[in-house]
Amino acid sequence: MLPPPITHPIFCMSQIMSDIKSGIQYMFQTRNSMTFAVSGTGHTAMECAICNAVEPGESVLTAVNGIWGERAADMADRIGGRVNTMVAAPGVFFTNAEIEQALSKHRPVLFFLTHGESSTGVLHPLEGIGQLCLKYNCLFLVDSVASIGGAPLHMDRQGIDILYTGSQKVLNAPPGTAPISFSERACQKIFSRRTKPVSFCLDLSWLANYWGCDGKPSRVYHHTGPVTAFYSLRESLAVLAEEGLENSWERHQKVAEYFHTALESMGLKLFVKEKNARLPTVTTIVAPHGYDWKDITSYLMKTHNLEISGGLGPSVGLVLRVGLMGCNSSKANVDMVLAALKDALKHCHKNKM
Ligand code: PMP
Repeated sequence: MLPPPITHPIFCMSQIMSDIKSGIQYMFQTRNSMTFAVSGTGHTAMECAICNAVEPGESVLTAVNGIWGERAADMADRIGGRVNTMVAAPGVFFTNAEIEQALSKHRPVLFFLTHGESSTGVLHPLEGIGQLCLKYNCLFLVDSVASIGGAPLHMDRQGIDILYTGSQKVLNAPPGTAPISFSERACQKIFSRRTKPVSFCLDLSWLANYWGCDGKPSRVYHHTGPVTAFYSLRESLAVLAEEGLENSWERHQKVAEYFHTALESMGLKLFVKEKNARLPTVTTIVAPHGYDWKDITSYLMKTHNLEISGGLGPSVGLVLRVGLMGCNSSKANVDMVLAALKDALKHCHKNKM
């Protein structure tokens, strides 16, 4: 006779999903019941936020200081929003006075801002912006894909109406699920729309039911969830909770400062001048003068099996970008990156330009 199979504790999927919801509420520092994970990556959550919050013809304002504000503007435009952008040079951020001026001029229903601008390395200050959005009767949408868990953010206290992130950054889970949360004010606007959101897959009414956020007794089949990704998302949220948010923020900050000081002592320049606005998870280094940045990144990949990227969108050609987040944010990894970079600078021939 065969022995009985090994028995594991039984977790039903709805329990896994409910644990994910609590984990996201903790990570986002929110009590919003409309909190869940979209099936898809960070872009999917961005599109979910915009396509639910905006109806055709409504005014949208996006803050563009890198690629993500451009992407949000593109998405809002595709669904028929009247899009206005406020644009700053890559590497800088907006003051609250500039934001207020743009809100009063454009009177948007939605204002988009990126907390951790991974294409430029800017950590945007958030204090006071939620209150401004409330004053102008506008929803405040924040992209925290590259920052959540690595830099302080308090969704409820900071008056953020819609917040999303991805699973593959500080959480170190595989890509494919994207945590998102909607405030009561956001839900009120979304559930009193005159038109249906153009996307069936991302329609908040369906997703709310799928995730048990609508208070209805039963869940109706909407789509097949990426269940293995849900398991890993749950685990990654548990790992973050075990370390503690404050400890994680502090670790990322300390490691980033250690990295930045060492880079400067090597004679390299940091792209973001304002110290407090340097994103602890993604460091942007001014592309070293006299080198072709592509030589450096391909040498590092070939010789050290290390992926450092060039710029993205408006920062192409201007920077090298180093991502150290989640379990990768450690002094040991910084030392490894520094040694590899030193080697690359020695070996990559300087241009004769
Ligand atoms: N926003 C930011 C700030 C990001 O860094 C990224 C990914 N690099 C995205 C959005 C898009 O996320 P994804 O690639 O998971 O779609």
